[in-house]
Amino acid sequence: MGKFENVLAAAFGNPGHDYPEDHQQENGMYLHHCFRCTAQFTGHKYRFSCKVCTAPQPTQPPPKKGERRMIDGVIWTCTDPDIDRWVSVGSLVG
Ligand SMILES: [Zn+2]
Repeated sequence: MGKFENVLAAAFGNPGHDYPEDHQQENGMYLHHCFRCTAQFTGHKYRFSCKVCTAPQPTQPPPKKGERRMIDGVIWTCTDPDIDRWVSVGSLVG
């Protein structure tokens, strides 16, 4: 990594959200805002979400019947946990 990249990362970077492994690549030092959490981060030109949001999410415990979960802004209710069946009960937005 060159000195210029180090200075940029220090000025604009967001430790934990950045992709320091991208910085030495061509177009690897773009300043982005994560489309999910809106955090500022530095990484390759083609990145669109920060490292936190790109990381695999921890797996959730098995659902219970009648349990509600919000997935991508839509509320789902579990109707049959044995077959992992969920029905949408509406959206919070719109
Ligand atoms: Zn993010």
